[in-house]
Amino acid sequence: MQTSFSLAQLNDPNIADANDILRYCVHCGFCAATCPTHALLGDELDGPRGRIYLIKDMLEQDRPASDTDVLHIDRCLSCPSCMTTCPSGVNYMHLVGHGRRHIAATYHRGLVDRFYRSVFGWVLPDRQHFKLAQRLASFVRPIAVFLPGRLRKMVRLASKRHKENKVVTPDAFKAATNQKYRVALLTGCV
Ligand code: SF4
Ligand code: SF4
Repeated sequence: MQTSFSLAQLNDPNIADANDILRYCVHCGFCAATCPTHALLGDELDGPRGRIYLIKDMLEQDRPASDTDVLHIDRCLSCPSCMTTCPSGVNYMHLVGHGRRHIAATYHRGLVDRFYRSVFGWVLPDRQHFKLAQRLASFVRPIAVFLPGRLRKMVRLASKRHKENKVVTPDAFKAATNQKYRVALLTGCV
């Protein structure tokens, strides 16, 4: 992909890195096939290639992030499934990080948005907080219909079986037969 950053912009190491990443992209669109948000929403801007264009435009023009930029970049799950199908080795995860950094610096989020982001920041990284949120969700589930839209969806998505969700603590397991390799298994994130 052709880029047109000025020399002054390229003096910023973040912009220089974004520029290097962008130049690997050949617009092929293979990445869309493995992007869950593109599969669900069917919008080019909700796929990796569309987000790459949005990030390129924000950074190149050095303009504040718009509502459209934020909407589509916020929807990215950072999974990063798109990187598994990119034939060109585009480091999308670093690029979206540059995009998010730019959004954080130039976009003013509304009160509701800031509230939800603070809640997620409190709940998601801490196991105890997450368990507490699960309990609260199952407690208010019967009255979920009365909750405001986004909260209602979150409550409905919360597991109904939080009591059965055993936390797997780190452990080492002996091989059932002859040991050939040693592997680490990630049991899941959230
Ligand atoms: S990180 Fe995941 S959600 Fe984001 S663009 Fe790539 S595949 Fe889509
Ligand atoms: S698959 Fe890679 S090279 Fe092709 S559009 Fe997506 S990011 Fe760009």
